[in-house]
Amino acid sequence: MSSDSTTLPGRRSLPCAIPDTPLAAAIPGIETCVHCGFCLQACPTYVNLEDENDSPRGRIVLMRALVEGELPLDDPSVQTHIDRCLGCRACETACPSGVPYGQLLEATRATLREVRPTPFIGRLILGVFARAKTLRVMLVASRFLRATGLPSLFSGLAGRLGFANAMLASTRLPLPEREYDFGLPGARGIVALLEGCVMSGLFARTNRATRRTLRANDYRVRPATDQVCCGALHAHAGDLDTARSLARQNIAAFEHTGADFIGVNAAGCGAMMKEYGHLLAEDPEWADRAVDLSAKVRDVSELLAAAGPRAGGALPLRVTYDAPCHLLHAQRVVAPPLAVLRAIPELELLPLTDSEQCCGAAGIYNLVEPATSDAVLAPKLRHIASTGADWVVTGNPGCLMQIGAGLKRAHARARAVHPVDLLDISYARSAQKG
Ligand code: SF4
Ligand code: SF4
Repeated sequence: MSSDSTTLPGRRSLPCAIPDTPLAAAIPGIETCVHCGFCLQACPTYVNLEDENDSPRGRIVLMRALVEGELPLDDPSVQTHIDRCLGCRACETACPSGVPYGQLLEATRATLREVRPTPFIGRLILGVFARAKTLRVMLVASRFLRATGLPSLFSGLAGRLGFANAMLASTRLPLPEREYDFGLPGARGIVALLEGCVMSGLFARTNRATRRTLRANDYRVRPATDQVCCGALHAHAGDLDTARSLARQNIAAFEHTGADFIGVNAAGCGAMMKEYGHLLAEDPEWADRAVDLSAKVRDVSELLAAAGPRAGGALPLRVTYDAPCHLLHAQRVVAPPLAVLRAIPELELLPLTDSEQCCGAAGIYNLVEPATSDAVLAPKLRHIASTGADWVVTGNPGCLMQIGAGLKRAHARARAVHPVDLLDISYARSAQKG
């Protein structure tokens, strides 16, 4: 990497000491920030750590200092503050200037990776998710472990070991399941589903519920064979090469289905797939195909809301909704999950304070930055407790496991559940009566 200081063509003032890096390519985004500070109070790390360097504005200043050569890429303090970012993108929603913070963060992490390898635990997890066969083995082993009941037994252990056990135990929900068919022709179009790594491995019931609820709303559901991990974990960690490789495999797999929509029930994966166009923008062979595919991606709640969704049978439950960051801030999907819940008669929807704030899951963040993750989760659990709800609804596996683990370790009555699971039970009741 050259350390020459040059000014990028077309830029007024920002000299670039790190040309030919992902961060250099992100200079236009850095220059969008006017340092107004409107994003500060939306940022969970700033609110919890009270350090300007752990705010969006502070991190953008650090990125700028790297670009200008005021700080070296191996500055340990820069690494710390960039590592502590959740990537929740609440700052993007708060920003009046349209700073593409998520893209800046990925570019920064990709650049920093060149001088500091990802820590061992991160490399291990990313390596597993990039290899379909290894991932399958790991998920089978996780399901076996879950079935033994040991994770539930050890979920109270101190530290990350106890938390990891609680995460796994929280994915085992005693929800009823029944097949139903309303006999609709699928006139709303063909949906190919992203099965998802964690969703297919630990939330298989939710994937089945997704298929049933889509069919109940007049969609035809078609499998997409050869699909792989969406690449979100890799992109967020700065491993853009692996993220691009996975994106290309998925584009080919989903193109093959001829589907009208790509349905996704994991907010983080949906956000990633909607950004394949940006991820592959510099790849002449794949750029247009990536844009076309991204345009077809929908969160399952968007597909259901577009169809109504049809009303189900009564479920007299007390429920509160926590918005996944990658649904609310990254995809800007606000109303559809609430429409899904409103399709369930007698369900009582209780407001949740700061439901737009991150829960601290953030991909593998809760494993690599446990202290900050716990600090971010604590107020979320307090707010959930104050609603008196029995169910916390959220549409992302990371959030389901993070909140589910927190509730379990706090011996709370409430459980975390995907909105589609509740709609599915409601439909099964309605079909049984009809
Ligand atoms: S990121 Fe946006 S809101 Fe935050 S300081 Fe910059 S311009 Fe202001
Ligand atoms: S992505 Fe989230 S944690 Fe990171 S700077 Fe933005 S608001 Fe803060």
